Order: sequence, then structure tokens, then C-alpha cells
Amino acid sequence: MKQEQTELEMYIEKLRSHKAKMTPQRIEILNIFLANKAEHFTAEDIINRLEDSKTGQATVYRTLELFCNVGILKKVNFTDDEFTHYDLMDLAQHFHHHLICNSCHKVVEINDDLLESVEAIVSRDYHFNVQNHELILRGICHACQEGQPDE
Ligand SMILES: [Zn+2]
Ligand SMILES: [Zn+2]
Ligand SMILES: [Zn+2]
Repeated sequence: MKQEQTELEMYIEKLRSHKAKMTPQRIEILNIFLANKAEHFTAEDIINRLEDSKTGQATVYRTLELFCNVGILKKVNFTDDEFTHYDLMDLAQHFHHHLICNSCHKVVEINDDLLESVEAIVSRDYHFNVQNHELILRGICHACQEGQPDE
């Protein structure tokens, strides 16, 4: 991976490698995710953010589906609501981990992999080459432990 490449360019290259054309609408949607990495937007959230844009609802749904298919977005659901939430995949590293508070239901992301030694053991003992992983840790966040939940 070239160092001078911007993050946006890395994602565009990923799309190109799947023969997906870059359109202004796709870049617009991609930029929303890049600017709000800790968020887990629903399609509705994206549509609301594009209120003043010409990008229509059908395009948003189609684009989110395309981004999932090429591995730019991942569908996640932490909150047990009926909506699909979308999370930006990490291109240069494995998928980030999530900490979910059982009390206030806040979702916090951990961007350090922390699993390198697990991956080495799995490779050595199971002859399995780990390409990615999804890890959710559930517990009580610091604010809730202190009796001061954020909301
Ligand atoms: Zn996430
Ligand atoms: Zn890893
Ligand atoms: Zn909490």
C-alpha cells in the first residue's frame, strides 16, 4: 500500500478492483462514513444526511448494498432494533473490535488488533490462516461503573 494514498483513494481503489465505477453519489456516501468512523449508520441516517443533495433514496440503498458486496461496509446490529446498521471496514488492517455497554448500550470501537498472538496460535495449532475477525466484548462502561452514564 502506497503511503501517499489518501484514505478515500484506498477505498476508491478497492471499489475499482471490483469493477465498480466511482460516481459522485458513491463518493458522497463514502465520505459520510469516512468522516464519522465511530458511527454505525442506518440507511435512514444516510438519507437524512443527504437531505440537501440530489442523491435519491434508491441510490442510497443500492450504494450501501454495493459497498457491502465489495467489502467496504459491513452490516452490523448491536442494538437489537429492526434496522440494519453499516460499519466502515478497515482496509489496511483487520476489522476493529466493539465494546458494548450492557447498561447504557453505548458502542465503543477499539482500533488496536490485540489478537496477533491468538492469530499466531490458531495458525500454528489449527493450520488456519486468519483473514479477519469480528469481536464484540459486552460489559459495563467506565461512566456506568461510576454511576454517571452519558445519557
Ligand atoms: Zn464499528
Ligand atoms: Zn487481527
Ligand atoms: Zn455504559
